[in-house]
Amino acid sequence: MRNLFNSLRTRLVLSHVAVVAGGVTTFLIAGNRLAPVLVDSHFRQMESLAGSMMGHSQIVDLEQGILVGFSRALLIAAAASTLVALLAAAIGSARLLRPIEVIRTATRRLADGNYSVRITPPRESELAALADDVNTLASALQDTEARRMRLVSEVAHELRTPLATIKGYMEGLVDGVFPSTTEIFVATAREAGRLERLADDLSELSRSEENRLGLEIRRLNLAMVAVETAERLHPQFDDSGVALKVQPMPVLEVDADQDRMAQVFTNIIGNALTYTPEGGRVSILGEVKGGEVLVTVTDTGRGLTPDQLHAVFERFFRADRSLPGGTGIGLTIARNIVRQHGGDVTVTSAGLGEGSTFTVTIPRSPVSGAGS
Ligand code: ADP
Repeated sequence: MRNLFNSLRTRLVLSHVAVVAGGVTTFLIAGNRLAPVLVDSHFRQMESLAGSMMGHSQIVDLEQGILVGFSRALLIAAAASTLVALLAAAIGSARLLRPIEVIRTATRRLADGNYSVRITPPRESELAALADDVNTLASALQDTEARRMRLVSEVAHELRTPLATIKGYMEGLVDGVFPSTTEIFVATAREAGRLERLADDLSELSRSEENRLGLEIRRLNLAMVAVETAERLHPQFDDSGVALKVQPMPVLEVDADQDRMAQVFTNIIGNALTYTPEGGRVSILGEVKGGEVLVTVTDTGRGLTPDQLHAVFERFFRADRSLPGGTGIGLTIARNIVRQHGGDVTVTSAGLGEGSTFTVTIPRSPVSGAGS
C-alpha cells in the first residue's frame, strides 16, 4: 500500500484528481448558491410582468422544480467530468512516465555492463536533459572499458615475450639442450629484470593516469633541474661517445614537483642518448615564452617518421622492437607528469635519421623573479 502511494504514477493521477475535485466542488457550491438567487430574481420579474396569469404558489412550485432539476444536472455533470478527468489523468501520466521507464531500462542495461546503450531524448526538455546525461555517462563508461581492455591485452602481449624466453631457457636447461653456463643464467636474469621493470613501470603508469602521483609542488627553477639531470647523465654520454651541450639558460621559475620533473628530464635526455649513435650530439635549451617556460632537448639521432611522432607518447610504443630497449612506457608517464603540472610534452622531427626535438612546456609561476 505504501509502495502504491510512493509511486509517481499514483501521485500524478492523485494530483490530477485533486485539481478536478477542487474545481468540481467549487463549481457545485457556486452553482447551488447562485442558482436560487438568480432564478428567484428572474421569477420575481416574471411575476410582476405577468402576475395575473399565474398564482404565487404556482410560481414558487415552478421555481423549486427548476432548482431541483438544476442541482441534479450539476451532480451528474460533476460525476461525468470527474470520470473523464480520471481517464485523462491515467492516460496523461502513462504517457509522461513512458520516457522515464525507457531511461530506467537503459540505466539497468548500463549497470549490467552494456555500455553501447543510448537513449533517444524524449520531447520533454527536463527528461531530454536526463537522457543526455545518461548517454554521456554511457559514452564515458564505454571509453573507460575500451581503454581497460586495450591495456589488459597490451600488458598480456608485453609479458608474453620475456616469459616465453625464460621458459625456453629453463626447458633447455632441464632437457640438457643448453649447458648450464653463466651466459644462460645472465640471459634469464635479464628477462626477469625486464619483467620487473615492466611491473614497476605499469604501477607508475597507472598512478600517473589516475592522477595519484602525489605531487609535492613548490616553487623551483626548472633550468636547475634540467642542468642537474644532464650532469648526472654526463658520464653515460662520455661512455657512448655522444656530445652533451647544455646552453646557458635564464631562470625558469615554475611551481612543480622537483623529483618528478627530474624523472621527466631523465627519460627524455636518456632517450636522446639511447637513440643517438656515437659521434652524435644532444643539446638542451631553456627559455621563457609568454606565460610558459620551455625546456627543449634536441638530438642528432635516429629521428622519427610522421606516424611515429603521433605514437611516441602511447604506452608500449617502441619504434624498433628488435632493438633492446625500455618498455615503451617512459614517455607516456613523462607526459602524464607534465600534464599534471598544467603543461605538455611535444615532439618534432624532420624524419628518420634527422634527429628529434622534445619540448617540455610548463606554465610559469604567477609571480616570476629575476632572469625571466
Ligand atoms: P622506451 O623505454 O622504449 O624508450 P619511451 O616511452 O621513453 O620508451 O619511448 C618510446 C619510444 O619512442 C622509444 O622506444 C623510441 O622508439 C621512441 N623514441 C623516444 N625518444 C626518441 C628519440 N629521442 N629519438 C628517436 N626515437 C625516440
